[in-house]
Amino acid sequence: MRAQHDIRASDVDLHALSPTQRDQLHGRTCARCGAPSPHRPAGYAVAAGADGGRLGWPVKVCAHCPTGS
Ligand SMILES: [Zn+2]
Repeated sequence: MRAQHDIRASDVDLHALSPTQRDQLHGRTCARCGAPSPHRPAGYAVAAGADGGRLGWPVKVCAHCPTGS
């Protein structure tokens, strides 16, 4: 079984988001472990745009995950 991906670990492709990544990016689930209802700010996930630009999305983590990446 694949380990849950920390969405902050690498750039995210906005045009190829999985439902899991979408929830993490929008702060609906923990950016690290995917647990529901995260409530601590945890820096930014970086999304790569089609034009080569990079955009930071503020994400959250649950009570059990470190806020640093
Ligand atoms: Zn977590």
